[in-house]
Amino acid sequence: MSIEHGLPNDFCPKSYDALIVGAGYAGAVCARSLAEGAGMKVAVLERRPHVAGNAYDRTDDAGVLIHEYGPHIYHTFDDRVHQFLSRFTEFTDYQHKVLANIHGTLMPVPFNHRSLILAFGEEKGERLYRKLVATFGENKKVPIMELRNRNDAELAEVADYVYENIFLHYTMKQWGKTPDQIDPAITGRVPVFVGDDDRYFPQAPHQGMPNEGYTELFNNMLDHDLISVFLDVDARDILSVEDTRVLAYGEPYGGEVIYTGPLDELFGMDLGALPYRTLDMVFETLDMDQFQPVGTVNYTVSEDFTRITEFKNMTGQVVPGKTTIMREYSKAYEPGSGQTPYYVINEPQNIELYKRYRARVEDVLNFHVVGRLAEYRYYDMDGVVASALSLSDQLIDQR
Ligand code: FAD
Ligand code: UDP
Repeated sequence: MSIEHGLPNDFCPKSYDALIVGAGYAGAVCARSLAEGAGMKVAVLERRPHVAGNAYDRTDDAGVLIHEYGPHIYHTFDDRVHQFLSRFTEFTDYQHKVLANIHGTLMPVPFNHRSLILAFGEEKGERLYRKLVATFGENKKVPIMELRNRNDAELAEVADYVYENIFLHYTMKQWGKTPDQIDPAITGRVPVFVGDDDRYFPQAPHQGMPNEGYTELFNNMLDHDLISVFLDVDARDILSVEDTRVLAYGEPYGGEVIYTGPLDELFGMDLGALPYRTLDMVFETLDMDQFQPVGTVNYTVSEDFTRITEFKNMTGQVVPGKTTIMREYSKAYEPGSGQTPYYVINEPQNIELYKRYRARVEDVLNFHVVGRLAEYRYYDMDGVVASALSLSDQLIDQR
């Protein structure tokens, strides 16, 4: 493997079997799979000065390992994804726990048995819990929007409490809309949990943090003789799509191109910009061992920020007398402003616009889109890995 900043003067696209745009999960998984599975010589072009995409982590001035683009906690139900990633890292047994700060009371999220007791008191909480178990069964996940639709006074009381105290204000901050106004699948990511499991990802069989961090995972994944990584390179300066052809420096390129960036950018947003939410992430290093009891505290009824993450609580790193925390402030993304498009906004008119861009590359047989940006999908890391493995399988089969 080689990782270089910038492109060498003699960079020749045609000397590579595949050009991959982006060194996040989507790009790196494809690079490794194609190099290994089909002996393809691959160039990865990444416009940031580092690999790992939004999963990038680094040590800050205080010596604390931080996640530059927001807290990343690995979890998956997918054995293949887990086996693949486990080749490049060992995982700690960290189990992510989140508390909601509700007027100073810290309550488990997803809202669970213990949250009910904290919210309603021992006696009433137990009664309501028994009702939830009788209705949905034990250890079941119930999306808030489903709970709200139940025609039962006791369930309605729980639903109203959870809606008001967990979802309404947080969702307003994160999306600028109420939970009723957004795709129910989004709030459904954090369902009410009818049980005692107080992990953020109840029941996920594989969860943890990469032992040496995410960036090291990527360094290992990209460490292959047939992979060259070029950082600080915007692929749009090299690649374009014209009718049914991919051009590299204006000449037809016959190798495979895997594109993991935003699709509208590739076409100069000529149909309009795809909407996203972005985040201001405010890091702060404090002179103390520990700031909060868990990795993440969600501020669900107060404050302008959505959540505070304390990285040491997730990585298990020991740094005496110092800790770094980060607050997230969500806002609308302004195209062309240099902001990072973090979250797709899953609304019908946006999906329609995306499909129009997507239609332009559908007949370009050697051009493939994959990943959270390129597929305009609210993917977790494991979903992106699964999608990249599936695309790689197809390309390897074709050869
Ligand atoms: P990215 O990581 O965005 O990588 C795409 C890369 O392509 C970028 O590095 C970009 O610079 C590069 N690129 C784009 N255009 C060009 C171009 N023209 N030329 C060159 N390079 C280009 N997932 C979880 O599983 N658990 C979590 O806890 C979690 N937390 C998250 C928290 C936040 C705040 C966010 C925003 C996401 C979180 N995710 C989490 C999701 C996770 O970050 C993504 O699923 C994953 O990183 C997406 O990988 P990707 O390769 O598709 O995209
Ligand atoms: N959510 C909420 N309150 C919470 C946690 C989540 O309202 O305490 C809602 C909110 O709309 C959020 C969505 O559920 O955007 C998904 O939350 P998740 O933690 O999965 O978001 P991510 O980690 O991807 O930002």
